[in-house]
Amino acid sequence: MTNERLSRDERRRLRQADAPYLSQGMTAGNDPRPMGAHLRQIVRLLQDRTSRSPCSDAVGHLTTLYDRSVPPEPNLACHKGCSFCCSQDVTVTAPEAFFVAAAIRNTPTLIAAVLEADATLRNMEAEERLGRILCPLLTEQICSIYASRPLACHAFISVKLQACLDSFVDGKPPQIPMPGAWINLLYSQRMILKAAIRLSGLDDQTYEMTAAVAAILRQDNAETRWLKGEPVFAAVKPDPPIPPQFETGINDMVRYIAPTL
Ligand code: SF4
Repeated sequence: MTNERLSRDERRRLRQADAPYLSQGMTAGNDPRPMGAHLRQIVRLLQDRTSRSPCSDAVGHLTTLYDRSVPPEPNLACHKGCSFCCSQDVTVTAPEAFFVAAAIRNTPTLIAAVLEADATLRNMEAEERLGRILCPLLTEQICSIYASRPLACHAFISVKLQACLDSFVDGKPPQIPMPGAWINLLYSQRMILKAAIRLSGLDDQTYEMTAAVAAILRQDNAETRWLKGEPVFAAVKPDPPIPPQFETGINDMVRYIAPTL
């Protein structure tokens, strides 16, 4: 692949070739076409200014893809009503935070809970929070935004309840046995999302979810302004930089896909 942008006809044909992949999951392997198809689709959704929430559309596509792609886990310890792990910091990109904010926009009790939790968590380290301060989006031990929960929440599963109790109830260092396929898919999906954000000329910094959603809720038209490049998250502490191997992988994706857009 050269760095020269494909012609309009070539891009139209590529779009037709992408279509069958968009309703399928991602499989492990060396075929770059599913990744390319989904990445192009997420860029299209992020850049669709006719949508009420381009970020929700883009993240919704990605999280549906995640759920469709993970293999069944026969030893899953998680079940509805079990929420021990929902006392951790959750890492989100800006589009994931906008997806969450859109999901609670018409629920004043959840908005109030997020703003209150933000005030509590602001000066607390992630380790201090573990097992003590629950996610403000939990209602009677059930995630109230289950369909819109961030990628990290989709991927955080356990195959051993006792390990969760040790970590989140007894305060031992977290050592939750999680299926490798689920974690690997989380990393690859997050790389796709970050690449799509960069390809759209936007900021792919990640943040702690409660702080990012609270920042959105405090501002008018935050998503529209962020999509225009405004510093909507200026007051939110950014996460540390990602490891260099992920940075390289994301840059490779951007280089590979940019000429095809
Ligand atoms: S968003 Fe939902 S799944 Fe994620 S930590 Fe909060 S309550 Fe738990």
